[in-house]
Amino acid sequence: MIRKVKGTRDILPPDSRLWAGVEAEALRIFSSFGYDEIRLPVLEPTDLFVRSVGEGTDIVSKEMYTFSDPKGRSLTLRPEGTAGVARAYIENGLGQRPQPLRLAYMGPMFRYEKMQRGRYRQFSQIGIELLGSSTPEADVEVILALHTFLAVLGFDDLVIVLNNLGDPEDRQRYIALLKKELAPHRERLCGDCQRRWDENPLRILDCKVPSCREIVEDTTPVAEAASAESRAHVDAVELELADLGITVRRAPRLVRGLDYYLRTVFEVISPELGENTVLCGGGRYDRLIADLGGPQVPGIGFAIGEDRLIEVLPAAARDRFLGERAVVLLPVAEGAAAVALGLARDLALAGIRAEVEVTGRSLRAGLKWAAKLGARAVVILGEDELAAGEAALRHMDAGEQERVPLERLREALVP
Ligand code: AMP
Repeated sequence: MIRKVKGTRDILPPDSRLWAGVEAEALRIFSSFGYDEIRLPVLEPTDLFVRSVGEGTDIVSKEMYTFSDPKGRSLTLRPEGTAGVARAYIENGLGQRPQPLRLAYMGPMFRYEKMQRGRYRQFSQIGIELLGSSTPEADVEVILALHTFLAVLGFDDLVIVLNNLGDPEDRQRYIALLKKELAPHRERLCGDCQRRWDENPLRILDCKVPSCREIVEDTTPVAEAASAESRAHVDAVELELADLGITVRRAPRLVRGLDYYLRTVFEVISPELGENTVLCGGGRYDRLIADLGGPQVPGIGFAIGEDRLIEVLPAAARDRFLGERAVVLLPVAEGAAAVALGLARDLALAGIRAEVEVTGRSLRAGLKWAAKLGARAVVILGEDELAAGEAALRHMDAGEQERVPLERLREALVP
């Protein structure tokens, strides 16, 4: 038997309905805020991620699915969405459109990660990007759209964690300070952090190894190295969110796994998943598009991990997305199949979910099958019923049965 690639998943019905429901809701809410969907390739030139996400990051240094195409070009399955959006912005001259540009995206991302709960090698993200504004209000709007989407799904216990990474100049100063503070403990850092020391020292702050965490606790938080201007920006974001009734928790040591972020960074944490399985991550990236060779266009955005979102989806949204239980149409009499199929068409056009029994089951076997499917009702088309131009309508939960004229069946089946 051929098995699926480790870290990938088969999303089977009825769970696939949850995915479709979440995605439709995301498009609905985000488009209400002005974010239209951009659909981008899954395959990009490797260089795009090296130059945006950053060479020293875990993502680029060890998690990318990179290969050569037959012409020897290095290609990578996208590990995240923002770099592709930035590339598309430059390549399609989206700067010519009215600014700021609001874009939403969703789809599969690929990272060669150690497998654990909520961590896959192919996973899906839903994100938005606001390009062309560097004001705190842009940050507030993006976080507001995120908060609104999550609230519509029924989440009420999520925590938004916010930090200020400062500007790249602040970061250079901070890294020097961090290394000075860590130097006496350098030998005690884990193997990964030894490597991070030269490649990406900020990531040491993010290490999950308890002994490294202990050492890091005594260092100066990255937020304290931020310039006055950058502080004013992030403070304004926090205040304006509070005015909208959205409270955030400040986390002065929060760093994210991508190099392009500056100033505002944030994460959404679900108590159910815990702090190590973050539901959503985002931040500001004012230099990204210029660094990729485009114009000086600031941006801010986030990506929600859809797999994780669905894992902790509130019950009300689950029920809503799983949708109505089916009606089973059970043709038992000779020639009843055609009647059943005609009914199925009427019901489909009326938006009523109905499944026809097409394998030739008897009444008894057909009812058993309908019960297994979890049907809410069964329409039995037997000899007597058809002769009278009627059907027997069996309500499965109540266990009751009634005779209904065929032309009144549709209204009798409206849930
Ligand atoms: P990032 O692009 O690293 O900022 O991640 C944004 C969000 O994507 C995270 O908060 C997760 O919810 C989700 N995510 C990242 N990596 C994975 C993974 N390997 N498996 C599942 N979800 C992931």
